[in-house]
Amino acid sequence: MKIALIAHDKKKDDLVQFATAYKPILSNHELFATGTTGTRLMDEVGLIVHRFQSGPLGGDQEIGAKIANKEMDVVLFFRDPLTAQPHEPDVTALIRLCDVYQIPTATNMGTAEVLIRSIEDGDLDWLKERR
Ligand code: PGA
Repeated sequence: MKIALIAHDKKKDDLVQFATAYKPILSNHELFATGTTGTRLMDEVGLIVHRFQSGPLGGDQEIGAKIANKEMDVVLFFRDPLTAQPHEPDVTALIRLCDVYQIPTATNMGTAEVLIRSIEDGDLDWLKERR
């Protein structure tokens, strides 16, 4: 499974905690992340992650391109709904592409937990076949 991980700055600690808890599951998959998120996942959690540019510098758009090319299965995006983001248009565009391509997308930890458990159980394995 190809999984994209993104966290806005105030949600990065939450994502590190989440990824630490679910490392045994996440490490069985191909992981992608925006720049700063990816660095933290590698340094603090020890996961192997393909890093794109930092989100505000185009990383969200790079993940969007992967989705448009049918090269991403799931997006776990820990959004901060309480802070204005300089790249808000990119965030909106990414979520729009997730909807265009019917990509299971979590925008908070609650839904991320549901998705990661579905991944663990193999419930989302069919996604790989539509690539
Ligand atoms: P970052 O990008 O991981 O490089 O901080 C995330 C974002 O804000 O979109």
